[in-house]
Amino acid sequence: MVKHQLPVGFVTSMNDLLGDESYDFWDSYDDPRTHGLRLNRLKTMEAPESVQRLIEHFQLSPVSWCDTGYYYDEDKRPGKHPYHAAGLYYIQEPSAMSAVEWLDPRPGETILDLAAAPGGKTSHIASKILGKGLLVANEIHPERARILAENVERMGITNAIVTSSTPDDLARRFPACFDRIMLDAPCSGEGMFRKDGGAIAEWSPAHVELCAARQWDIVQEAVTMLKPGGTLAYSTCTFNRAENEELIERILAHYPELSLHETTRLWPHIERGEGHFVAILKKQEDASAPIDSRIEPAVSQPSAGKAGRNSKQSVDRSAMAEFQEWVSQDLSDFELGPGSPRLFGEELYWLPSSDQISWTDQALKGLKILRAGLHLAHLKKNRVEPAHALAMALHPNQTARSWDVDSDSQEVLAYLRGEVLSVPADYRGWTLVTTDGLPLGWGKASNGQLKNHFPKGLRNPK
Ligand code: SAM
Repeated sequence: MVKHQLPVGFVTSMNDLLGDESYDFWDSYDDPRTHGLRLNRLKTMEAPESVQRLIEHFQLSPVSWCDTGYYYDEDKRPGKHPYHAAGLYYIQEPSAMSAVEWLDPRPGETILDLAAAPGGKTSHIASKILGKGLLVANEIHPERARILAENVERMGITNAIVTSSTPDDLARRFPACFDRIMLDAPCSGEGMFRKDGGAIAEWSPAHVELCAARQWDIVQEAVTMLKPGGTLAYSTCTFNRAENEELIERILAHYPELSLHETTRLWPHIERGEGHFVAILKKQEDASAPIDSRIEPAVSQPSAGKAGRNSKQSVDRSAMAEFQEWVSQDLSDFELGPGSPRLFGEELYWLPSSDQISWTDQALKGLKILRAGLHLAHLKKNRVEPAHALAMALHPNQTARSWDVDSDSQEVLAYLRGEVLSVPADYRGWTLVTTDGLPLGWGKASNGQLKNHFPKGLRNPK
């Protein structure tokens, strides 16, 4: 069906690009689109039985270019399964799983995902770095950034900061800071036509040009933020050369300190997936620091005087002490990576840091942050309410009380709808609710009942 809705200009450009191969390419538009999910290694290692159950339940088959990626059939609905709410997997188009595999992020690195919503590549990076290092996940559009932040929490990611900035604002703050950068650029989406009819309606030669111009603007900021020796993955889900090879040629001509290591195209008539392009660029080890008059390195002092800063730090520290007091009673073996506590209003976060980024007040000032790392707790007068994000980052044996509900049960559905559950009469206080051992959220127990603290905005309709 899609084939007959395609713009003439697109058909002509693909015929020019592919020549005789275009026959096979056009035939692929008669095939159904592919569906995929990617397992979250932050969860799978502690839940091998649930993984097996998932694979059997949805009859998953592996994606060859991503060892955590699987296909599922169109009639299945993995987004509705309790394991999805538990962050065991992320639903992602199979070809889109290629970019982070090529980027190859490593634990301990400082990484930027510059155009990150809704969070496919961010969660893939987090699943590879396993809580070690620092991940900045940025999305320019505030509403999409909110969805990104929700996905970061659902996947139990502890070391990601979610921002909503323009690329040039980030580049001013973080020149030569990142070991690896993922730039999954906004594009004309030609590779998604089987999946997304909206992309067909939006397509025009002028739109392709506009996308290429915007990509050029964004990629320059990405290069500024790349450390000497660092790796940049540039990806799109479009076919035309202007947004892919020609853009890479332009980058290489403009930045002699960059070299091209790999380009990959995934084609729907060759692979089982939609269209995708990935290029891997590396910056020379001896590349000099970016010369850019807009850059205000994060060294100058904040507007508050030293006394003001110290008093803010002491407020942060005493909030952390209050939280630690709660931890000493309700959690065990609870450790946080490198970072510092930050209190925003009544919300306490653990702001992760790395060798390259230690979040000076100057670096934070004016930066639009949706999640300043791991949300630990909501602090009310003399009361600590543990955050949903914290629940998602824990293992049940780290909590004083947990209540497990089978993933096939009515009880799990009731919890996800926000209903009260029954628990043994001796349960009292904050209780981690899990399904087959995977955290779903908090409940608060008293008198044999578990008051539901699954966030209202995430609840399934009754
Ligand atoms: N990486 C995401 C994932 O894997 O889930 C998908 C990203 S999508 C291809 C591109 C993103 O770029 C969109 O979320 C869009 O809002 C964002 N974007 C649009 N214009 C932008 C700009 N000028 N600068 C940076 N990002 C932009």
